[in-house]
Amino acid sequence: MTALEAWTPAAGAALLDEVAAACAAAGLAVERDHPLARQTTLGVGGPAGLYVECADADEVAVLARSLGEAPLFVLGKGSNTLVGDGGIDAVVVKLGAGLKWYSADRYVVSAGAGTAMPALAAWVAGAGLTGLEFAAGIPATVGGSVRMNAGAHGGEVAARLLSVDVVLPGTGEQRSLTPDELGFGYRRSALPPRSVVVATRWQLEPDDPEAIRGRLDELRAWRRRTQPLRERNCGSVFANPPGDSAGRLIEAAGLKGFAVGGARVSEKHANFVVAGPGTRAADVRELIGAVRARVQESAGVLLEPEVRLVGTFG
Ligand SMILES: Cc1cc2nc3c(=O)[nH]c(=O)nc-3n(C[C@H](O)[C@H](O)[C@H](O)COP(=O)(O)OP(=O)(O)OC[C@H]3O[C@@H](n4cnc5c(N)ncnc54)[C@H](O)[C@@H]3O)c2cc1C
Repeated sequence: MTALEAWTPAAGAALLDEVAAACAAAGLAVERDHPLARQTTLGVGGPAGLYVECADADEVAVLARSLGEAPLFVLGKGSNTLVGDGGIDAVVVKLGAGLKWYSADRYVVSAGAGTAMPALAAWVAGAGLTGLEFAAGIPATVGGSVRMNAGAHGGEVAARLLSVDVVLPGTGEQRSLTPDELGFGYRRSALPPRSVVVATRWQLEPDDPEAIRGRLDELRAWRRRTQPLRERNCGSVFANPPGDSAGRLIEAAGLKGFAVGGARVSEKHANFVVAGPGTRAADVRELIGAVRARVQESAGVLLEPEVRLVGTFG
């Protein structure tokens, strides 16, 4: 079996207690051992060691100042995240209602990082602005899309982003960064460690709202036809290797329907793993590792996971 790397922070109880006390002193509500499974699209995995929901950017700054050396994981929609069954021994922050907003100044759109990407794509379409159609079917937050440089149908975040505002750990200072400073690549970025994206600005262009809506409808219909949207999944499990498609390689290896525990390679799209009732995160991880090993044997290509594995696996 090919090993799959997970990010396994180990804050420890004492450090999380210190952060909890600092947050409480600053008036920020925290929760120990908060279950995360329902907050990811795969619906598996254990709890957050310390969970904080920040209502707005000011609260993110309070958290940043309370963190000390504690590891931090920002949870968006959890649509690209596989949380281990043992949970995440770190501070996990979720962005609340005050970070779900958007506005336009002519062709420049601003959006809070907690906004849902499909909602933003639909709103800009209604405002007669083109450039975010690619995001209509990506069930992500704006912040998670920036972190992953999400993309589809030839479009991607990096192509339209003007700048992001991040909150930095320690000082809680807010800094504006341009795409040049974000190290964008295929499904990746290089945000400063433990920084939290709180706001974004996008350069769009005018177009006929009906024409944009038509394109959105087409792209949504394409997803319904080609992706297992009725089952729990995390989108593409592997990044496409240069010049090829991970789904094609997995299908060619005869792995559609291949299962470990409750986790199964989708029959509809081979680069999707779906999680049935009772699936453990360890099943998903083992399945991903087995698929990777089998594709390497059959095609000589080592697929790189796109999904982020986080926390402790059994
Ligand atoms: C049905 C389906 C279809 C999909 N289709 C596509 C597709 O076409 N194209 C594509 O690129 N992806 C696709 N995905 C994958 C996923 O939606 C993207 O990777 C998305 O960008 C993840 O966003 P999220 O908010 O869910 O992030 P999460 O999964 O919650 O987090 C992903 C990473 O972003 C970080 N992060 C989240 N928010 C912030 C923030 N505010 N500040 C700093 N870091 C942050 C997290 O810490 C983590 O490292 C699909 C997923 C599903 C379930």
